[in-house]
Amino acid sequence: MLRKTVDKVVRDELCTSCGVCAGSCHKGCISFCEGKERNVPVIDHKACVACGLCYDVCPGKGVELNELSERFFSKEPQTRRDDYAGFYKHVYVGYSTDNEIRMHCATGGMVTQFLTWLLEKGEIDGAIVVRFKKDNPLEPEPFIATTKESLWESRSSKYVVLSHDKVAKEVTNGQYKNLIVVGLPCHVQGWRQLAEKNKIIKETIKGYFSIYCSINKTKLSMDYYLRRYKINSSDIGRFAFRDDGCMGYMKFENKQGGVMKKIPYKSYWFGSHSFFTNPRCLMCIDQLGELADVSFGDIHIKPYSDDTIGTNSIISRSSYWDKLLSKCKNDGVITLDEIPIETLLRSQVYVKSYKKGGGGKAYSKIKKLLGHEIPVYDYKYEGSVSVKDYCVALSQMLMHAIGKRKKLWWIVKLLDRSK
Ligand SMILES: Cc1cc2nc3c(=O)[nH]c(=O)nc-3n(C[C@H](O)[C@H](O)[C@H](O)COP(=O)(O)OP(=O)(O)OC[C@H]3O[C@@H](n4cnc5c(N)ncnc54)[C@H](O)[C@@H]3O)c2cc1C
Repeated sequence: MLRKTVDKVVRDELCTSCGVCAGSCHKGCISFCEGKERNVPVIDHKACVACGLCYDVCPGKGVELNELSERFFSKEPQTRRDDYAGFYKHVYVGYSTDNEIRMHCATGGMVTQFLTWLLEKGEIDGAIVVRFKKDNPLEPEPFIATTKESLWESRSSKYVVLSHDKVAKEVTNGQYKNLIVVGLPCHVQGWRQLAEKNKIIKETIKGYFSIYCSINKTKLSMDYYLRRYKINSSDIGRFAFRDDGCMGYMKFENKQGGVMKKIPYKSYWFGSHSFFTNPRCLMCIDQLGELADVSFGDIHIKPYSDDTIGTNSIISRSSYWDKLLSKCKNDGVITLDEIPIETLLRSQVYVKSYKKGGGGKAYSKIKKLLGHEIPVYDYKYEGSVSVKDYCVALSQMLMHAIGKRKKLWWIVKLLDRSK
């Protein structure tokens, strides 16, 4: 029987570009094609047998988040469940005790520090992470880091859609073991679903770490920044979205290591982000990576927001990884202090009210009304949708339409408050 493939998800404009479908195909017939805004899967129909595996693992069409998280975490001892964060054992704040790591990672360096420690202790053989390409410092490149040095190369946030297609294919070759997947919630959803279908993946991936995600940006945002800050791409030696402290700066360095431009995070993020938001992200309900063993994020609330170097919030969902976090703390390489989940949720209040609230619902409703498909989740928002929610959703659609057209970028620049 011929089954649905990811072609349908792409046609429905629901692809998250996570790339995991490429690893699901036994015929190797999925490749990722360069798009203006993001890369999407393309199927070689001569080789495709329409087995439907790529469709099954795809998070773009929506995910049974409740059902899967119930299966993965509900039997963990002393587990609790929150409507927004999913299952959790503990919520912490913490940071790397190495100031170099803390200063140059996205937040407190917890992801990079914990992975490095796990590697040194022989708990893992590597991790699927992302660095910028050496020959193109603006293009993110997911890869399998197996050394402390390569983990360091992968530090910090990449605010641009990126696909795990090549690494997903690499892992299915079966030459690795004991790997951690680090990704956004949609990457983790894809890998989790792939592991349910593919024995090699199940045996190779030892743990799933998610970073929280409000939204990600399209590839066009990179062109905009270059134009906005008058940077010639061929002069760039190194680029970071977040460097030099808590939240930090977008930083362009030249080939000699000199700083060409530094823009404070809040300034460039809020300056233009709605124009370049990946539209699929506006219908996602999973900010906190509910299917991950451990999730890592910022903590935008006092007293933590007063910190200028960086403090993470962390959600642990499995006893195994929770114990390792404690051991890592006891070895003195990280700090780890438990906080109530309410504190974490207060720190994400704006995104929280959108993702599983009226904002996201309004956006999906308008899309549906316009005849588009929307993702299906096993979660229902029962609250009301206000006029303001609809206005915000319409303005998001308008801003995306502007962001897509380079000739209209003068409007973005007009509203962009960044220096
Ligand atoms: C698109 C995006 C949206 C985010 N939204 C929120 C939010 O709403 N609230 C919040 O509190 N925090 C958010 N974060 C998370 C935050 O920016 C930090 O990534 C997180 O706090 C971890 O910090 P760290 O210092 O421990 O990470 P680091 O030690 O710097 O390590 C970060 C790890 O994440 C990997 N990584 C970075 N970007 C990506 C990417 N795009 N896809 C896959 N892997 C990646 C890196 O390779 C590295 O392994 C977001 C991050 C991103 C990339």
